[in-house]
Amino acid sequence: MKYIPYGRQDINQADIEAVIQVLQSDWITQGPAIEQFERKIAEYCGAKYAVAVNSATSALHIACMSAGLGPEDILWTSPNTFVASANCGRYCGAAVDFVDIDFRTYNMSVEKLKEKLINAKIEGKLPKVVVPVHFSGQSCEMDTILMLAKEYGFTVIEDASHAVGGSYKEQKVGSCVYSDMTVFSFHPVKIVTTAEGGMVLTNKRELYEKLIRFRSHGITRDPELMIGEIHGPWYYQQIDLGFNYRMTDIQAALGLSQMERLDQFVTKRHAVAEKYNKELQNLPVVLPWQHPNTYSAYHLYVICLEENKIVKTHKQIFEELREAGIGVNLHYIPVHTQPYYRQLGFEWGDFPVSEYYYSTAISIPIYSAMTDADQDYVIKTLKEVLA
Ligand SMILES: *Cc1c(COP(=O)(O)O)cnc(C)c1O
Repeated sequence: MKYIPYGRQDINQADIEAVIQVLQSDWITQGPAIEQFERKIAEYCGAKYAVAVNSATSALHIACMSAGLGPEDILWTSPNTFVASANCGRYCGAAVDFVDIDFRTYNMSVEKLKEKLINAKIEGKLPKVVVPVHFSGQSCEMDTILMLAKEYGFTVIEDASHAVGGSYKEQKVGSCVYSDMTVFSFHPVKIVTTAEGGMVLTNKRELYEKLIRFRSHGITRDPELMIGEIHGPWYYQQIDLGFNYRMTDIQAALGLSQMERLDQFVTKRHAVAEKYNKELQNLPVVLPWQHPNTYSAYHLYVICLEENKIVKTHKQIFEELREAGIGVNLHYIPVHTQPYYRQLGFEWGDFPVSEYYYSTAISIPIYSAMTDADQDYVIKTLKEVLA
């Protein structure tokens, strides 16, 4: 039986040739493709600096480290995200807390953020870092988040793993006009891929220099940053504790080639979304609502079941779709309900909007290489299963 995944990569001959070219060149890692890929994305987004790494998880980690996040500090994110958005805080030894989501966009609610900040200030527990997650590719309300960041003095790291190619107001996601840093993921289910890979963008020179060092062992070759005597042309110094989070040139060449089609990918995802919007409007489901300030990259298309209009359970519908060969998925299990986070003191009931959302949500297939026939099959099956 045919299986239609919820998302997948879109690789063409030019992508394959770009990778082969690197394999035949002198540099398969730490070569020129990395910088070309970084410059391409920075220019596309309108940001000054970009640092390519081996995953968005690594990108989030070094972004938190560059923000100076440590064991005395607190990071806030959305419960409706992949665990990596919260884990980056734990890697730095920081405490993690969550801000419940908006019931329409499923992004972190800016009203709840504001309320929580007021209380945190009274209790002396303000966050050092806030990680808004642009869920499904739709930007969070960044103007309000920036305003609150200035008022309460936290660093903003956008987790834009779903959102490269999207916009907020007049800016591309990744411009960092409303944040300190933005992170992208290039996992194959995301908008553009490098197989595994991630990136941090920023407009701040100081952060850029730290990101570069944390990516590669905390080592610098810049004489201005060194302490004491410079021994010779071979000399480098390790001035921080960094990692090997480097991307290979093989991956960067794939990413660079994929960037040629980014706008095409997003346009196709919009076409798929519009067809779903039209064809599914009479089913007992809530379709993805779009904030007027945003242009989504449509990484995900999530439908939410209207419980009072459906006899079958959420689980039953999910299973019937899987049995019909549709690779539905669920984004996301609220992070605070994961055993690891419950052991840190969180409980079911802590963030009720994200929990209710979780009990009704289903991600249905959307990707740029999706054929009309595949989408028609998904629509037809949904109509049958939800009839
Ligand atoms: C995919 C994803 C990540 C992690 O990306 P990797 O590149 O796989 O490390 C982080 N946050 C969100 C919201 C994601 O969807």
